[in-house]
Amino acid sequence: MQALELSRATEVQVSTIRVSALHALAYCPRLFYLEEVEELYTQDAAVFAGRRLHTQLEKQEDEEWEELFLESEELGLRGRLDALRTRDGQTIPYEHKRGRAHRDENNQPQAWESDRLQILAYAYLLESAHGITVQEGRIRYHADNVVVHVLLDEAGRLKVKQAIQQARILRQSTYRPPVIDNERLCARCSLAPVCLPEEARLAHNREWQPIRLFPEDDERQVIHILEPGTSVGRTGEQIKITRRNQPVETVPARQIGQLVLHSFSQISTQALHFCAAQGIGVHFISGGGRYLGSFDTRQGSIQRRIRQYAALSNPDACLELARKLVICRGQGQRKFLMRGTRSKAKTEKLEKAIAQMKAVLKQVPQAKSLESLLGYEGNLAALYFSALPDLISPEVPKELHFAGRNRRPPLDRFNAMLSFGYALLLKDVMNAILTVGLEPALGFYHQPRSQAAPLALDLLEIFRVPLVDMTVMAAVNRGQWDAKADFEIRGKQVWLSELGRRKFVELYESRKQESWKHPVTGYSLTYRRLFELEVRLLEKEWSGEGGLFGQLILR
Ligand code: SF4
Repeated sequence: MQALELSRATEVQVSTIRVSALHALAYCPRLFYLEEVEELYTQDAAVFAGRRLHTQLEKQEDEEWEELFLESEELGLRGRLDALRTRDGQTIPYEHKRGRAHRDENNQPQAWESDRLQILAYAYLLESAHGITVQEGRIRYHADNVVVHVLLDEAGRLKVKQAIQQARILRQSTYRPPVIDNERLCARCSLAPVCLPEEARLAHNREWQPIRLFPEDDERQVIHILEPGTSVGRTGEQIKITRRNQPVETVPARQIGQLVLHSFSQISTQALHFCAAQGIGVHFISGGGRYLGSFDTRQGSIQRRIRQYAALSNPDACLELARKLVICRGQGQRKFLMRGTRSKAKTEKLEKAIAQMKAVLKQVPQAKSLESLLGYEGNLAALYFSALPDLISPEVPKELHFAGRNRRPPLDRFNAMLSFGYALLLKDVMNAILTVGLEPALGFYHQPRSQAAPLALDLLEIFRVPLVDMTVMAAVNRGQWDAKADFEIRGKQVWLSELGRRKFVELYESRKQESWKHPVTGYSLTYRRLFELEVRLLEKEWSGEGGLFGQLILR
């Protein structure tokens, strides 16, 4: 019986709409959709400034204060009132706002449109849930210390009902509403970094000058646990790292973006739960430097995946995206070879490869199938890797030279570095895919043949040259590698030693902090941020806001 009542209560909760969601709907239908349907919320409380005051205000009020949870199945609404007061025998709901009131042409304080709908909804909900008559609701704007009265009349009730109806329709939809015209609202919107409204406007109008609403950098650390036998746990709001024979290290969770466990480190269940709740990515890399997998805690992203399935079930759409990808990677490889010819004498092999790659790249847009694209990509890779040794300085010891790509296992030091770098890159790409909430197993170019997720392999192509190939080449030419101490030779196989892996991780993480200027949006971001941006731009390709994906090409 109790179980029945509980499930009934859950059903009502699912079918009713939160009043605060109607506030978001009045602000922007897309914001409602992102929060309510796709369940995207930001962890940063500051970005909600101006939308609600919470418990600290209760304590500042010296009058009677009654916060109240209300729910009406009949109306289809639920919500928690900031305060309920009685004035002259009338019950009045109150809403508190941190910001200023809207001013009309006579400079009189008025409620903002979204706040008006919200207080009307509370007043109507109060009537419906308690069977009383409510004549008005009040909003107190704390920044200019004014109270605005909002009358609940028939027009107000109708407005609330219409909003509930619109919300119900949107909840059933898998289609994300378009960005709103009023860009000033976007600048204050908590979900602008997810929504990317400026990039959507740019996709429709190439003359648009976008403002960067996407954070330039992700300040949170990526912690690599390289030492076997290390254990990771939780203590309060911190992650606790216990390495063998070393003092215990504690790091506040808010400072961590990812935990990367190499080799045989341990992580406790409590720490995993905590990381999931805090949005900290947890990834596993084998002792041999192979990416093993990630802790997947995605929730509420089914609409995004439904749209992805629908888009990537279309072979033409996949081919179009794959062409962009092959061009992006091929251009990056070619530009890297061209850079090499700036600092040293051009070799015949380099010049020939650069010219031949240009010819192949010209043909890619005409590729009629994924198979023919694979052929072009293979040609480009063969030309690139055949010329890459010519970028190595003559002073570099012979053991660190490159004589062609080999892997599984790598047979020389240069390839050992490339393989480890691509594993770290795959981990970062997976982290971004999981953050955005797409399905890694469904790509547009790579087929699900190997253990690695096809979408991650697709996106990997964009970052290989700038983040791994260039990092390895620069470190080799600068003489940063010790051919003995940084590597382990096992028969014909060559791996990075623990020392070498530590060195590589430092080089790679510091490369990720460098900035790159997007050729279309015109703003600069660190490579750390570019992973997530690129996945979000990919999602826009099947959301009617495409055109910016796959532009990460070296200059
Ligand atoms: S950024 Fe703009 S378009 Fe996007 S959800 Fe916010 S207000 Fe709406």
